[in-house]
Amino acid sequence: MDASFLNPKSIAVYGASTNGTSPATIILQNLLGQGFDGEVVAINPKYDRVAGQACFPSQTKAGTCADLAVIAIPPSAVSEAILDCGDVGTSTAIVITAGFQDGTDAGSTAHLVETAKDAGLSIIGPNCLGLIRPHLRLNATFQPTLPPAGGLALISQSGAICSAMADMAADQGLAFSLMLSLGNSISWGLPEALEAAGSDHQTKVILAYVEGVRRGDAFRAALRRACTKKPVIVLKAGRHAAGSQAAATHTGALVGSDKVFSAVLDEAGAVQVQTLGEMLETARLLEATRVTGARLAIVTNGGGAGVLTADRLSDRGLSCPDLPEDTALSLDEVLSPNWSRANPLDIVGDATPDHYEAAVQACLASDAFDAVLSILSPQSMTGPAAVAEVLVRARDTSDKPLLSCFLGGSNVASAKAHLRSNCIPKFDLPEYAIVAFDCAVRAELPTKMRNQEAASPSNRYTSKQLAALSPLPPGMLSDSTSRDLLAQFGVPCPIPNLAKTEADAVALAADLPGAAVLKVASPDVSHKSEVDGVRVNIEGPNAVKEAFRNIQAKLAMARPDATFSGVTVEEFISLPDSRELLVGVTRDPIFGLTITFGAGGTLVELIDDTSTALLPLTRDRALRLIERTKAAALLGDYRNMAAVDINRLVDVLIGVSDLSMQIPNLEEMDINPLFAAPEGIVAVDARIRIG
Ligand code: ADP
Ligand code: MG
Repeated sequence: MDASFLNPKSIAVYGASTNGTSPATIILQNLLGQGFDGEVVAINPKYDRVAGQACFPSQTKAGTCADLAVIAIPPSAVSEAILDCGDVGTSTAIVITAGFQDGTDAGSTAHLVETAKDAGLSIIGPNCLGLIRPHLRLNATFQPTLPPAGGLALISQSGAICSAMADMAADQGLAFSLMLSLGNSISWGLPEALEAAGSDHQTKVILAYVEGVRRGDAFRAALRRACTKKPVIVLKAGRHAAGSQAAATHTGALVGSDKVFSAVLDEAGAVQVQTLGEMLETARLLEATRVTGARLAIVTNGGGAGVLTADRLSDRGLSCPDLPEDTALSLDEVLSPNWSRANPLDIVGDATPDHYEAAVQACLASDAFDAVLSILSPQSMTGPAAVAEVLVRARDTSDKPLLSCFLGGSNVASAKAHLRSNCIPKFDLPEYAIVAFDCAVRAELPTKMRNQEAASPSNRYTSKQLAALSPLPPGMLSDSTSRDLLAQFGVPCPIPNLAKTEADAVALAADLPGAAVLKVASPDVSHKSEVDGVRVNIEGPNAVKEAFRNIQAKLAMARPDATFSGVTVEEFISLPDSRELLVGVTRDPIFGLTITFGAGGTLVELIDDTSTALLPLTRDRALRLIERTKAAALLGDYRNMAAVDINRLVDVLIGVSDLSMQIPNLEEMDINPLFAAPEGIVAVDARIRIG
């Protein structure tokens, strides 16, 4: 993959003409008129001169070999332009043209792909806005604005998002190193763009607008690498479109592609934002500064704004750390007597620029805080311009991030402009500042996290384990085969045995150390309790017989069409302080196997307390998977229940991960419930489906 086209010394524009409104002509004019100092060649067989300079029928005829070609001509003509590029040695073409057809004729996507391959060309697009490199004053798009040069790279599957961002950048205080619109991504797509932006020296922060990923593994790998180099902020659109697929297992119904995509981002260490606004605010902060810790001091001249801000911190799971007593004492000497003496530091309505200076400087200097947010609402004693000046000075004395939020309109406008021109990140509302702060904190996590990450999961298996795996028939495995496999991989579970008759059931139950559980056995039934097909804590031959008959009768009533194969008999597990959990595995069509953990039982879909990660798991990621659920709180000492050994639970998750990675065509696995108790962890119901 060659990304040298991002720094081209020469560009050929195919399709430039005397028609001032054609995309190619606009691109040519943007390149010529906005200060790009490389060579720009117009290519169009119909003209000798375009925009005051020579125009050539082809690069071959012109005797040029541009570093980059930009092609905006009708679809049927594009292949010829690609061949021309190939002939002279241009290695990358941005195809702006939209409207490629299905089929294989000239003007079809397939023909374009084929031609590009033959010519040895990388294609950006087709159907894209183009490329912007503000540092080179290069605007190879058909929108007019060259955004300010800075550290943000935007890679986008939407051209409109690119043009909107280019247009609003200056007003929003955003400055860019790169904007690349990917269009239909027939050769260059998100993975290549992430790679390129990750390696680009001008780029400090990567923003990605994503609608869909086609090459899951390549995306994952590129995202991981990019995240080790710089913060990556991802805005995913269409989160609700591809709902969960219907499936025979609980997990299948719980895990939609949206959760899987979030898991991919989380695993790599990318930060997911939910809205364009969140992306803009986060970008503004990260372009100005890196945030190395989550402890924020809030300095404000209005109590209300301070409380609102602290609320938003809590909403996002961040706390508002205490103000150290010595800092408070030192500020007592400077501030008005009724100041809050706590974080948020409410330095009250009559706060002067000097008061701001003292409070902000003290917080920046304190070990208790990683960053400071300074909020101002216009009041007569508080000169916004003077406070802005104070903040610029304070920022220069410290490495810590200083955020600002001057609430108001015309009274604070010039102060905000001053902050922006001095690169102090400013936010119109406190909640915007907190979104940005939270995302920026999370953007710094991947490097810290990965350093602690253990190596790959265990991949040595005993011959017994491997023998159990081969060969598994397609379809839903029986409960007993499923639990046999789990037991082989270190997931404790009672093994159910099939009883075809009442007598078999009595004999099997008599062999158990304690009471029995009888469950309906039918190839047509997946959720056994739905047909009232489970009897627990059954003791004695008569009770077993009765349970057998009863289960058979209930099945006949609930599902007259279903085959009754008998009942399975297994040990009744009764563990004090047991919690019911769920562990499931599903295969995502793009990203492969994923694991889901959460609260189990018969109400799982209703409760929907799960988190999802990609397989294979490491121990650290297994722990994170657990910690992200509400069920995690239930696993510690809870009310009068003793704690579950989390290490053992991690063992079980690793066992499931190992087993899943070893089954070649695994489609789904569902353990529900997994009993987790202080004494032990046991799976009492399992389904495995092979594709
Ligand atoms: P379903 O197919 O309806 O999910 P399960 O096999 O999960 O059926 O059984 C239903 C419920 O019965 C479980 O959620 C669990 O509470 C209880 N149960 C199942 N097997 C056992 C067992 N071996 N020991 C104790 N309780 C069990
Ligand atoms: Mg169950």
